Amino acid sequence: MENLEKIKFFKTSKPCKLLDIFIVVVLLISAIFLFIIFKPEKGTYIEIYVDNELYAMYNLDTDREIVINNNGNYNVVEIIGGKVHMKESNCQNQTCVEMGYIDSTNYKIVCAPNNVIVIVINPNADYDGIAG
Ligand SMILES: [Zn+2]
Repeated sequence: MENLEKIKFFKTSKPCKLLDIFIVVVLLISAIFLFIIFKPEKGTYIEIYVDNELYAMYNLDTDREIVINNNGNYNVVEIIGGKVHMKESNCQNQTCVEMGYIDSTNYKIVCAPNNVIVIVINPNADYDGIAG
């Protein structure tokens, strides 16, 4: 009985193959299309949030190190070459450090254990351009 089901499935699935390929191609094309429209834009500033409050804002143009000491939580955010990364953290999982470098608008580095969030922003971005 089980084998029969399998055979039935195999038989019915075969004519769908062309449709499957078509769907994959359509999805691929729309993914590329969406990527072109919403292409990650390079940010110009970073915002650092500590305990959900804006802690600091820095220009990505200037290389610097920002040390955050907050109730025993320790994070070092580094801006270097127009990119930002979490250089050091005393958190357990080190996920934030492993996230590496980011420089695109709305990209984030999150250190959940220490409640530190670094967001890349672009205050001068022309958002109307997307709609037009
Ligand atoms: Zn972390």
